[in-house]
This record gives sequence, C-alpha cells and structure tokens, in this order.
Amino acid sequence: MAGPKSTAAFERAKQVLPGGVNSPVRAFKSVHGTPFFAERGEGPYLYDIDGNRYVDYLMSWGPLIWGHAHPQIVSAVQEAAVKGTSFGVPTELETQVAEKIVELVPSIEVVRMVNSGTEATMSAVRLARAATKRSYVVKFIGCYHGHADHFLVKAGSGVADLGLPDSPGVPKETAERTIAVPYNDIDALRDVFLQRGEEIAAVIIEPVAGNMGCVLPKPGYLQAVRELTRSYETLLIFDEVITGFRVALGGAQARFGIEPDLTTFGKVIGAGLPVGAYGGRRDLMELIAPSGPVYQGGTLSGNPLAMSAGLVSLKMLEAADKTGFYDKLQAYGQQVVDAFVDHGKQHGIPTYGHALGGLFGLFFHDGPVHDFESARESDSAMYERFFHAMLDAGVTFAPSPLESAFVSGVHGDKELDITLSAISSVFRTLGA
Ligand SMILES: *Cc1c(COP(=O)(O)O)cnc(C)c1O
Repeated sequence: MAGPKSTAAFERAKQVLPGGVNSPVRAFKSVHGTPFFAERGEGPYLYDIDGNRYVDYLMSWGPLIWGHAHPQIVSAVQEAAVKGTSFGVPTELETQVAEKIVELVPSIEVVRMVNSGTEATMSAVRLARAATKRSYVVKFIGCYHGHADHFLVKAGSGVADLGLPDSPGVPKETAERTIAVPYNDIDALRDVFLQRGEEIAAVIIEPVAGNMGCVLPKPGYLQAVRELTRSYETLLIFDEVITGFRVALGGAQARFGIEPDLTTFGKVIGAGLPVGAYGGRRDLMELIAPSGPVYQGGTLSGNPLAMSAGLVSLKMLEAADKTGFYDKLQAYGQQVVDAFVDHGKQHGIPTYGHALGGLFGLFFHDGPVHDFESARESDSAMYERFFHAMLDAGVTFAPSPLESAFVSGVHGDKELDITLSAISSVFRTLGA
C-alpha cells in the first residue's frame, strides 16, 4: 500500500497530469495500486516520500546500470552543468560518446544521438524506408519500440496493459504499413516475406524481448531472421534500447553474434539522463541529413549533461567488463530467478524465469515463455499479489507482470539477501 504522502501526492498530480503521470506505466494500473512517489535514490535503493526504502529492480525501467546517484556519474553531470547546459553548436563530447559506441558495438560505424528510444526507432525506420524505397515494416507481437505511430501495433508493455493494441489517433493508413508477427516463430516471418518480401523496408526486433516480461530468442532464431532479411534486401534493425550495454558490453548483437544493419539505443547509454541513439553501416547512416537527404534533427540532441553521464558510464562498463561484470549481473539475477522458481514449486504455484546479463524475468507461468501469447497466459492476479507483498517487504519490481527486472553493478550480497528472504516469506502468503 502506498503511504499517506504518496497517496496525497498522486491525488494532487491527477489534477494536472493525465492519470497523474508522465508515462502510463508509472500509474500502477496493471497491479491495481497507487504509485509510491520517489524522494531519492542511492545505489540499489529507492526511497519514497513516506520514508520507505526499497531494493530497486525497476532501475528507472533500465537506464540505471550503475544504480541511483552513482558518485562518478553525479560529478560528471555537475561538472558539465557548470559549463553550460546546452549550446546548439557541436561539442567534442558528442564525438567522444560516438567513438565509444563505435568502438564497443561491432556493427556500428556511424551513430546519431537523439533524446529518447522512441526518437531512435522512429528515425531508424525513416532511414530504412528511404534507403530501400519500400514502405512496409515488420515488428513482433509484444515487442515495444516506443510510441511513434507505426509502432503502436501489437506493442507489449504499457500499451498491452491498457488494452490499447491500436491506439486512437494512429491513422489506419499508418498502422497498415506495419505487419506484426509472433516472436520466436520463423515460419510466421517467412510467410510474411513470401507474401510481400519485396515491399518490406525493415524488420525491427528486440533481440531479447524486454517488454512482454523478459523473453529470450530461441537458439538459431535471430540467425534465421538475419538470413531471411538479407535474402530479401530488407534491413534488420535491432532495437537494443533495453539490451544495449546491458546484456553484454556490445549488446545482444555481440552476445549472439549477429550483425544487424541498424541498431537503436536508449536507456543505459544515458545513465538516467534523456538519451537515445541510432547507428549502423556507414553507407546507410550517411543518408542522414546533413550528409544525406533523410531529415532528422534535435535542439537538445547530444546534450552535454547527457553526454557526460553517458560517457562516464560507458567507460565504467568497459573497465568492469574486463573482470566479468555481465557474468556477475547474470549470476545475481539467476539467484533471484532460482529462488522465485523454487519457492513456486514448494508452494504449488506455477513459476518460470530466466536471466541474461543485467536483465531477468519472473513469470507466474507453467513452463517456458517464448512469445507474447505465452507471456499473456501468466497469472497476472498472482503477480499483483506478489508485487504488493514484495513492496511491503521492501523490494520493488516493475508494477506490471509484462515487464523485465533490472540489476545494477551496485546490487550486492546484502540486497540479494533482503530479496531472497522477502521472496521466501512472500511465497508463504501467496500459497495460502
Ligand atoms: C523503452 C523502450 C523504447 C522507447 O524508449 P523511450 O526512451 O521510452 O522513448 C524503445 N524500444 C525498447 C525496446 C524499449 O524498451
């Protein structure tokens, strides 16, 4: 239960913000709750305005791979702010961040910075359409790519939760150019290509799906998607807004050894500040204005505060990767998953989950979850009870069963202990 201050703050917010929030998932609707309001964060902990402390696995929905208010990131932002918050002319910082991304992500030769994941995916699709002179885009049911019109078709996450598979305000003509097929089903994709392969500009995919819970690609699936798109000269866009710098230093593409044509980023690259980016092969990226004709700009793109935070964070990740950073994150997540699954078994409650790098997923589901349909079969009422009981025990996950959980480099043994004992006591009440 949200405390009295959070409850009052939410009532006040609802007078002047739609639903009291600036992003729908924050309203706790899919767990039928009232959101707690953040007062501050510190490392792996989030504090609300009622004075409660939570071990945080929401991590601002992914960006905070170094936890809250990491001292090195805070000083980078402070130092940048003193020099000015935006200039409207280039800075060397932007080049440094771009060079770092190019160095770390195998398929990227040239990259453009934007302000959100939505902008990144929207711009990547525009570029793909311009490069191929084709108009159709294929996405996967349950994958979320931000809120641009052509992606609000069978999107997961907040969109699915609200039961708005096709949002009002999206023209039919736009939605018709988007073809949605089931995730992890190569035959379904092959059928779509047989029908109109020559008209498909791009296939956009979350290489590990993070917006229908965390769903892993089946072995060989991404490879098959790569081969199929290549054979039709359709561009493959990896939406690595969640997975970039989170499942491995080079993202999911490095982890699975696949080379997409274009990649989109967000979340982790800004370390908690508003950033997105898209990049890829030089010949494609050179089509972007001003080197080419495809227009895309941004008053605050490459913002010095965001670039400073991102650069420090990427350098820290690069250094940590040398001592097994991503394996440690995964081992942590796996322990939470194992505890969740084991206690489910003990109490006769169907549970399933997996961890990959700094990402993990918990499902109240009997057996594997490999697409949106199976994710939707999971017991959302049980998740709701689990979520609220864990909150009471001082641990926060995402306020929805169709989201991933995020671990940071500052979650340690102490937080793991708190989490595991909370899971143990919460399952005793769930079974009852
Ligand atoms: C969060 C997300 C986006 C949208 O990013 P915003 O910064 O919220 O606009 C796009 N794609 C994926 C995979 C995401 O998880």
